[in-house]
Amino acid sequence: MDADNKLYELLNVSRNATDTEIKKSYRKLAMKYHPDKNPNPEEAERFKEITYAYEILSDPEKRKTYDRYGVKGLQEGGADSSDMFSHIFGSFFGGGSSRSSGPQQCEPIVIQELVTLEDLYVGGRETPRKVTRIVCCSKCNGQGGKNVKKCKECRGTGTKVIIHQMGFMTQQIATKCNDCDGSGEFIDKKDRCDACKGSKTVEEKKEITIHIDKGMKHGQKIVFRGEGHHMPDSVQGDIIVVLKEQAHETFKREGNDLILNETISITQALCGFDLVIKHLDGRDLHVKHEAGNVMKNGDIKCIVGEGMPIYKNPFEKGVLFMNFTVEFPTSMDVSVLAELEKCLPPRPAFVMPDGEHVEEVSLSDYDPHARSGRKKHSAAYNSDSEDEENGGAGGPGVQCRAS
Ligand SMILES: [Zn+2]
Ligand SMILES: [Zn+2]
Repeated sequence: MDADNKLYELLNVSRNATDTEIKKSYRKLAMKYHPDKNPNPEEAERFKEITYAYEILSDPEKRKTYDRYGVKGLQEGGADSSDMFSHIFGSFFGGGSSRSSGPQQCEPIVIQELVTLEDLYVGGRETPRKVTRIVCCSKCNGQGGKNVKKCKECRGTGTKVIIHQMGFMTQQIATKCNDCDGSGEFIDKKDRCDACKGSKTVEEKKEITIHIDKGMKHGQKIVFRGEGHHMPDSVQGDIIVVLKEQAHETFKREGNDLILNETISITQALCGFDLVIKHLDGRDLHVKHEAGNVMKNGDIKCIVGEGMPIYKNPFEKGVLFMNFTVEFPTSMDVSVLAELEKCLPPRPAFVMPDGEHVEEVSLSDYDPHARSGRKKHSAAYNSDSEDEENGGAGGPGVQCRAS
């Protein structure tokens, strides 16, 4: 493998540039080619390349590998865990990953890795995992033993043809040869390899280190190329780690954004409030809402730049959305209502209609579960738009008027 200079060229720095020089140059180029400023898809590609180059050169381990072996070294050494290569560098390096002919590649080993939202926010978590893989037996070099002969039973084909007689019809069915278990080969007991018992393969534990980068997502695959099974006469398979993001107590993630549900009292909604959000990296965010600027039930506010970091572009972050629920008191002291009403917008004037057709009715609390015998009716009642509006925070307001 030859070292190349491509990543340094992309970042416009020399091979012996310091970390600070690399960072400085990256920031400058990233600003210039950022997709927000460049709708041109060619420049967006350029941005990805720059970001990729920075990701490698800012990591001392990855940079060392790259300096010695070039991009190919990163790819084959498994140091790079992304599919970025095939996407971006495939064209530069002749698309080394396409294997249309020749021996088949072994099935990948797919494992799941649980990650917390904190892991994905902060980045840098390294988790060692032991993966069981099947590899060629090194003792017999994947031969299974000495004096490998053709199986006599199937003449080396690995299959046997069974003839089925069904009345006047005969049917030929090909089945696996039992004598050689479909391999077409036969080794005398005394010649069999004692390490693999003639099976040509052995199980072994392969230790991999799963590196969690900032902004990685649920379902994202980290590929360890060529670190999986290696059967005789086939290309070594991959280990694929699939990330499973665990639900978080406080935050919900949507893409690069975070969502936080916050319940405040009506007093806070009317008179302003201060609150503290414990962020995923342990920081306390002080949120201040000025008095006089009323927060309504269902209001959504956002804090720009406090969402998730963007994968491979960690200088940028998504948005933190806050959904506010305003809690109304369940009852009020009637004696203070007159005073309270003075501060609130006036009630609409009430005019009692004239005549005999006025009937007094009373409002009672609605409990959908108490009317099981009248499901159909209650469902229709439930979907009534007026009732839905009053179902949430408006509810107690209705009670207030009735009492
Ligand atoms: Zn056979
Ligand atoms: Zn062996």
